[in-house]
Parts: sequence; structure tokens; C-alpha cells
Amino acid sequence: MAKWVYMFTEGNATMRNLLGGKGANLAEMTNLGLPVPQGFTVTTEACTQYYEDGRQINDEIMKQILEAIDQMEVITGKKFGDKTNPLLVSVRSGARASMPGMMDTILNLGLNEEVVETLACASGNPRWAWDCYRRFIQMFSDVVMEVGKKYFEELIDQMKAKRGVKLDVELTADDLKELAGQFKAEYKEKIGTDFPTDPKEQLTEAIKAVFRSWDNPRANVYRRDNDIPYSWGTAVNVQMMAFGNMGDDCGTGVAFTRDPATGEKGLFGEFLTNAQGEDVVAGVRTPMQITEMERKFPEAFIEFKNVCKTLEKHYRDMQDMEFTVEHGKLYMLQTRNGKRTAQAALKIACDLVDEGMRTEEEAVAMIDPRNLDTLLHPQFDQKVLKRATALGKGIGASPGAACGKVVFSAEDAVEWAKRGEKVVLVRLETSPEDITGMKSAQGILTVRGGTTSHAAVVARGMGTCCVSGCGDIAMDEENKKFTLAAKTFHEGDAISLDGTTGNIYEGIIPTVDATITGEFEKIMNWADKYRTMKVRTNADTPADAKKAVELGAEGIGLCRTEHMFFDENRIAAFREMICADTVEEREAALDKILPYQQGDFEALYEALEGNPVTIRFLDPPLHEFVPTEEEDIKKLADAQGKTVEQIKNIIASLHEFNPMMGHRGCRLAVTYPEIAKMQTKAVIRAAIKVKKNHPDWNIKPEIMIPLVGEVKELKYVKKFVVETADAEIAASGIELEYEVGTMIEIPRAALTADEIAKEADFFCFGTNDLTQMTFGFSRDDAGKFLDAYYDAKIYENDPFAKLDQKGVGKLMEMAIALGKEANPNLHIGICGEHGGDPSSVEFCNELGLNYVSCSPFRVPIAKLSAAQAAINQR
Ligand code: PEP
Ligand code: MG
Repeated sequence: MAKWVYMFTEGNATMRNLLGGKGANLAEMTNLGLPVPQGFTVTTEACTQYYEDGRQINDEIMKQILEAIDQMEVITGKKFGDKTNPLLVSVRSGARASMPGMMDTILNLGLNEEVVETLACASGNPRWAWDCYRRFIQMFSDVVMEVGKKYFEELIDQMKAKRGVKLDVELTADDLKELAGQFKAEYKEKIGTDFPTDPKEQLTEAIKAVFRSWDNPRANVYRRDNDIPYSWGTAVNVQMMAFGNMGDDCGTGVAFTRDPATGEKGLFGEFLTNAQGEDVVAGVRTPMQITEMERKFPEAFIEFKNVCKTLEKHYRDMQDMEFTVEHGKLYMLQTRNGKRTAQAALKIACDLVDEGMRTEEEAVAMIDPRNLDTLLHPQFDQKVLKRATALGKGIGASPGAACGKVVFSAEDAVEWAKRGEKVVLVRLETSPEDITGMKSAQGILTVRGGTTSHAAVVARGMGTCCVSGCGDIAMDEENKKFTLAAKTFHEGDAISLDGTTGNIYEGIIPTVDATITGEFEKIMNWADKYRTMKVRTNADTPADAKKAVELGAEGIGLCRTEHMFFDENRIAAFREMICADTVEEREAALDKILPYQQGDFEALYEALEGNPVTIRFLDPPLHEFVPTEEEDIKKLADAQGKTVEQIKNIIASLHEFNPMMGHRGCRLAVTYPEIAKMQTKAVIRAAIKVKKNHPDWNIKPEIMIPLVGEVKELKYVKKFVVETADAEIAASGIELEYEVGTMIEIPRAALTADEIAKEADFFCFGTNDLTQMTFGFSRDDAGKFLDAYYDAKIYENDPFAKLDQKGVGKLMEMAIALGKEANPNLHIGICGEHGGDPSSVEFCNELGLNYVSCSPFRVPIAKLSAAQAAINQR
């Protein structure tokens, strides 16, 4: 028979998956002989079963809960609902991974009108008894029945006003008794039934509420942001109450063994006398520093310090603890590895190694790679941010913090920036024409688009903060205004963006510069030591490449050559090429492009100092490049010696219904081989030049043909590439090896990878397109409906951000196996956005990829993830 309930004495820290973090640690603390009020844990499996049974606690689980209560009564010598020695419990959620704020705690469960009278008499402290009761009604109504805190808070405020007092603690026993009556009346009015008096019924409802809370919107969002699967479920902990609100020799507090902001060693926390749990965090009274506890409760403090030492030594990590002092006696209510800032995480990990508590590998494994993001971009001043309320939320597409005045066009962004203004560019969506504006802006906000939209990809590459896909914005670009949360913003109004959370704020929230500390470097060095997979970068310009090398990139895995033409003075030549009518016209445009390309490639080779550079041949979704503004069309017409009308006709003929599946990638080289020839010349000439300057560098160009779905396509294009390259090399008199490979980004390429591998020196998974085509939804439009998919639990994550291992991953596995069998020398990487996502990097490591390639600011994240994957795989 399945065991659904465990007493604290039956569990231990290794049972985290079953008992949740809190339950496993309460059991572990019990085993360590620490003062833990006893109780039991209803397992995470019971939660999953509750959902399978149609949101019901089945009879078997219920039976085990009731048996656990019996055992708890034996252990504590108290009884549920008893009139002489009543048992009161707390009920708290506890998932496998800590999810702060997912569900509020319910304290003092087991109270009713009779029990409270008993407590009042027996304790000689009626104020305490009635305070417990009114808190219980309030919490039960709010958490279990969702009545809403505010109704009860209003009643408390009215009572305080009536009595002429300011603080809750100034209310008397009679006041609290009266309040309890009012609360129950409020409950009956809102729910329609009397407040439950039977403790077992109260407990059943509370447990159900915890299970329900696993599926509340807050929890769902938190899980998505933190990669926590829905299938894990939450456990429920039922624990005997220890009372911190029984008088001045009682109290409650929260403490960390190290400063969670800086990582500095030493007790850090807050404490309140005569209070219960939530008072410390609720801000009704100002708590005192934990060190003051020494003065108030010297004995309990000494014991607490010893407990801290024991726990930190035992868990070999910084602990975050909750405790209560009841009549001078210490009770431990919770311990867990404390949440910490990225900076603190690095310091703590390094210190633990210095203190002999952790090995280097363990230190590397302790750090959440996603946290590193915050160290690489400017951040909001946390003190100010805490007080700010977000107006709305989009997708945190490129991390960092940005604030500035709203502008609605790239030109305005450039103009305003020239005047020294800090601006945030707000657009329905961005296109390559906006690049200079994007560069000038502190941050970018778009109404449409997901994590792989133009705005997101480009912003991440530039390291600029970007919030994309905020569909709540009502945009009026024409009149330069937008509305969000019923507030209208005009050009020049200030807003702030958090590119990590996706939050949008009104006004300027000050930022502080990111700093890379010594510990950061130390951890990265350790990561390098234990990592087997290489980390390259997606860099399109020499500036990006330099930044990426600074951040530790070991090569370029993807240079999107079309992105080299975003600059104002280059886009014209590029458009001439796209809108050419004849081969001659196209070749004339290509002649203009060639020197730009060659120059850029030289700079890339220089920046990479002999490390590999993969240059992807042109893959411009045409809709991103054709001019749309009248002025640009006119410019193009003049340059081509054509009329505006003629250009408009060409543009119309280039129109595609589905440009992402249109005339792009190698299809462009198949129709216009002269493009591939020009690019080959540029690559080879650049390589030869740099090789001449640096004979000791290993310059070996990797030419990558995109969007191949059929081996003959690759063969066809490769023929021009090889002929051109060989001719260039022969003419130079220099020896140069080069490789021609392909992206695997069309499902058919994965399915026929054995054929393709015979023609390719390397594969690189373009998982942006592979995801798009495997799922069959557009990477530019998916943002519009994915939220509904999350709500319906169809998808837990954005498959464009976190690799779909089941489907897309299967194609990758297949392509690797087929490809390697046909060509054992094949080297394989990934350069879709997933190359910088920790869980996807881990998966790539499992697949045995040679490298992942990601945007420059994600290089340290990918390196740390790769090291963790290697360490876990041992
Ligand atoms: C991809 O499809 O994953 C890729 C890297 O190419 P792009 O994003 O340029 O289509
Ligand atoms: Mg692609």
C-alpha cells in the first residue's frame, strides 16, 4: 500500500522529492536532535494523486492523515479539540524546490470557541488565546476560503480606531474576542456557512488548500520562471504550534547564517518579541536585528547560534531558518539553503571551499547559472525597486535594467540620444531598420514577439535590456502614445524596464552598474576546469565578438552575416542586392557588399585570435530587409536608377505570405549563386590576410550553409563555395584549410542527416527554426498564444527559450546518430537561442555536442551550465 504520510521521525534530507524541501529538512532536523515541534508531512505524491482524483483527497490518504494525527497526539500529549490540553498545529506547503510566497501559512489550526476559552483560562493569558483565534480565522478565511485579507484588516483598523490605539499589540483580550466574533460574521457573510469548528474538518480543508495552491497563477508563473515542473506537486507539513506570541518572554524570527545579499559570513536576520510568524515579514511592527536577541533571550540565543553552526555544517551551505521562542525556549520551524543574490552565491561558494566544507566541483554545482545574468548587466537599485509597483509585464527577453524617456521610432531614439537623453524605444515590433535606434536606447519594449523575435535576439546580442511581447499595451505609434494599465504614456514620459522579470514601471528607477568580482572569476576558472563541452558565441559584429571573448567565448558558433548590414550606411547596398532585377544589378550590389564583409570577417578573425569562427551564409527573412518607409524606397530607387514605382513593384513581387518559411537561407544561394560566391571570396580573403599577419594562429574558416533540408541543396551550393574558395586559395599562394558545414534547422535535415553528413564537415543545430518547424508555429507570432497554452498546462515553458527535449531533442538525437555514423569526423554544435539556456545546455552535453553557441552575455551562463552538466554526468 502506498505511504502518503510520514511523521517527521520517519523522514530525512534525502527524501526531498517525496517530502518537499521543508518536510525533508524538518525530518532531518529531528534526526539531528534539534528542537523541532513534531508533526507529519503529507507527500508530494499525495498532491499529484489529489489532482488525479479530480481535486479530492481520497479515502486512503485521508485515513493516513487521521492516523498521523493520532500519532501526533501521542507524541505531544495533546489532543485535537480537547478542552483541557488542546493540540494546535500549523499547516504549510513545501515543494521540492522552495517557492517563496506560493502559499501563505495557516497557524493556530485546531481552535474553536470552546478551545479558545480553555486556552485563555489554562494559560492565564486570555489576550494571547484570543489573538491566536482571530489570527486563525483570518488566515483560514484568506488562505483556505480565499475571502481576502483586506476585509479583516479593515475590521482591525476599525477596532484600533474605536479604541484609539495604533498597534495591534495594544488591543486587549476583549477587543480581540470581539474581533474574532466580527471575523466569523464576515466569514459567514462571504462564504454562506458558519466558520468550521471541528479541527479535523479545518485540517482537511487546509491541506486541500495547500494542494490547490500548487496550481494558482502565482505558482504557475514562478515555476515557469524557475524551471520547476508542474508534475512535482507540493507536500503539506502539519506541525505542532510553538507560540511566539504568549508574552514578552516569547518571540519569533527569521535568520540566515550568512548575508544573503553579500555572502558575508555571520548571523543575519530579524526578530520580534511577542509575535507570530507572519508579523516579522508583514511589516506591522519593526523587527529588531537578530543580534539583539542575545540581550532579550540570552540562553535561547546561545542555543540558536549552536543550531546555526550545526545546520550549516550539516548542509554545507548557507541556511535560512525560521524559529520561535516560547517562554524562553527555542523551537526550530524550518531550515533551507537560503536564497541569495548572484554575488552572494559566488562568495559563499568560494568561502565554503576555503573553509574546507565544499570541493571546487561542489562549489560550481551550487550556483544557479541563471543568476549570473544579474552580474553582467546594470541592475535596478533594489531598495527603490522594492517600493515600486509594476504597471505591466511582458517577456523578459534580454536581461538588465533600463530607464529613460519613451520614444516611438528609431530615428527619435537616435536624435534624443544625441541630445544626451536616455531613452526607451517602444515599438509594436522591431525590424532591422530600427537597429541604430535600438543601439541608442537604454532599453527596448515591444508589444509583439517572443524570446526569439527580432527585438529579443538583437537586444540580447547587444546586451541591451529588452522586454518583448507585452500584449497589454494599446499602441498608437502614429500619435506617439501607448496605454498600459489605464495610463497613457506620451513621447518623453519616463518608464523603466526590467529585462529579467519583464516588468514595466512608470518613472525612473535608478540603476547601479554591474561589477564582476574576484569570486566570479574564480568560479569561472573552476567551471573551465571541469567542463568538457566548448562554449562559443553568436556574434555578428567585431564589437560583439570582442565582448564575447572578454566574457570567455572560445569561438564563434554563428555569425549571422545579414546582421552585418544593419548599419545605416550598409543597408542601402544590401537592399540593392535584394531588389536587384538582373544578375548584373545583383553583382554590382554584391561588389559593394564584398569589402564590408571582408573587413568584418578580418576583424572577427583578429578578435578570436585563432579560435574557430563559423560564418553563416546569408539567411535574411526578406520581410526584415525590404524598405518600408517612403524615404528609403526613394533612396533605393535613386541608387538603382529606377522609379519609385518600379521599386515598389519589386517589393510587391518579393512579398511572401510566410516569410519565415520563404525565400531565405540556402534557397537564396540556390536562386542566386553569386551571393554565395561573393561571401566565399570575403571569407577566404579575410582568412588569408589574417593568417599572413598571424602565421601561428590556427585560421580555418568554417562556412555554414543555412536552412538545408535536402542534401542536393547543400551539394549544389557547396559546389560554388568550393570552386570559389579553391580558386582564391590557389591565387593567394597560401595554404589554407576550410570547412563547409550546414545548419540542422529543418526537420527533414534531421531525418536525412546521414545523407547530409556525407557532404558536411560539421552540423550546427539551429534550434530556433527547428523548434518553429517541428512545432509548426511561427517564432514571431507564438508569443500571442503561448500564454493560453501555459494556462491550459499544454506547455510549461516557451519552447523557443527552453529546448523541447522530447520532440526537437529527439530530432537532434537522431541527426547526431545518423550524421556521426555516416561521417565520424563530423563536429556538432548548437547555435539556436537554447545554446544559452542552462537546462538545454545540460541536454546538449548529454547528447555529446562539441559546443554550444550563445549570445555574448550568456557565455558565462553556458560555461557554468556545461561544467555542472559534466560534473553531474560523472
Ligand atoms: C536558428 O534557426 O536556430 C538559427 C540560429 O538561425 P536564425 O535564428 O538566424 O534563423
Ligand atoms: Mg535559422
